[in-house]
Amino acid sequence: MNIAQNPTSLTDVEPDEAGPLPRRRSVGVRVGAGKAAVLVGGGAPIVVQSMTNTDTADIEGTAAQVAALASAGSELVRITVDREEAAAAVPYIRDRLAQLGCEVPLVGDFHYIGHKLLADHPACAQALDKYRINPGNVGFKDKKDRQFSAIVEMAIKYGKAVRIGANWGSLDQELLTTLMDENARSPAPLTTGAVTREAMARSALLSAARAEDIGLGRDRIILSAKVSNVQHLIAVYRTVARRSDYALHLGLTEAGMGSKGIVASSAALGILLQEGIGDTIRVSLTPEPGGDRTLEVQVAQEILQTIGFRTFVPLVAACPGCGRTTSTVFQELARDIQGYIRDEMPLWRARYPGVETLNVAVMGCIVNGPGESKHADIGISLPGTGETPSAPVFIDGEKAMTLRGEGIAAEFKTIVEDYIERRFGGEKSAAE
Ligand code: SF4
Repeated sequence: MNIAQNPTSLTDVEPDEAGPLPRRRSVGVRVGAGKAAVLVGGGAPIVVQSMTNTDTADIEGTAAQVAALASAGSELVRITVDREEAAAAVPYIRDRLAQLGCEVPLVGDFHYIGHKLLADHPACAQALDKYRINPGNVGFKDKKDRQFSAIVEMAIKYGKAVRIGANWGSLDQELLTTLMDENARSPAPLTTGAVTREAMARSALLSAARAEDIGLGRDRIILSAKVSNVQHLIAVYRTVARRSDYALHLGLTEAGMGSKGIVASSAALGILLQEGIGDTIRVSLTPEPGGDRTLEVQVAQEILQTIGFRTFVPLVAACPGCGRTTSTVFQELARDIQGYIRDEMPLWRARYPGVETLNVAVMGCIVNGPGESKHADIGISLPGTGETPSAPVFIDGEKAMTLRGEGIAAEFKTIVEDYIERRFGGEKSAAE
């Protein structure tokens, strides 16, 4: 017998990770003020953030979307500040958010004329909690350093954090050309991709060093280096992480639509997060026309939760179904329970502290149903094709009851609600 393939003892077993998943050490950056402030890096939980796609000059529309993203769990929200009207709207958006009871820190996304907009609109500079600068398009030639410095000085003046975000699509062309020329003279030239990645990493790191020279503290600087190619993204972030201890904003740029965007982001971010790299994440999904912008928040949360960094919402484990589930009852129940839990979470989060750790299982038949259901806090095993039309429910590993008939879904929801009230409601009462 080949012992390596058929171990007979437990010596070859992969042990559990001891304690929390390892993280790269980074300088913590506080974004925002008061109780809504968020710490990025410095060992803080990995922060979920998102970005609006409204016209920022539309105060009502932008405030509504910021509030929706924050309500979905976005802990920072970025808005575009691309012109005078947008900059002028920012303080009013902040006011409107206050009326809505939303204090989420706001990040202003600046390109080309950020220095001018911040100088001309001090109320905007004050209302924002962080400025995002792209060193590739902050200005060109002799204007570049001057305009970059102007934004950094504004951040120092108003006590704001800055994200220096290099981007593959708008990379500092002077720096890239210099490195390409150097590479061409090298006896062992690198690939164009490798040189471009190096230009991205250097663009972010050199800009951060310049910001520090101007007087911005390390505890005000967050870096990003976004690419749309997964392998390039992983490589460039590993480089930046190895060479610095700045807090890192992680994201795959232009991830795309639907499953493509979700899979690409999960693959790229998952690998880096598992290596301990990343202090805040954004999932850049292209929404369907008329689609819900908050999906990017949900995906970001699910990436962090499935890897084991944070818990946001109760997880519903559902089997994929197979030839044993020829009716749609199983899919409908899995979808209903998942949707119901997401919809209720804003209320539950306040009312039932700890509810996000709940595990629910919805299984399609007797093969894995009872076993998987016993591992969940609450599980239901629906009848597969040809099985007795009954659905045993397991609570805390024990069979608690059997549901029958047309009202299984409604009854199961009631059981979930009762369980939550019983298990997490006591903590609520104590907190109130
Ligand atoms: S639990 Fe049953 S229905 Fe679900 S995938 Fe397994 S065999 Fe199929």
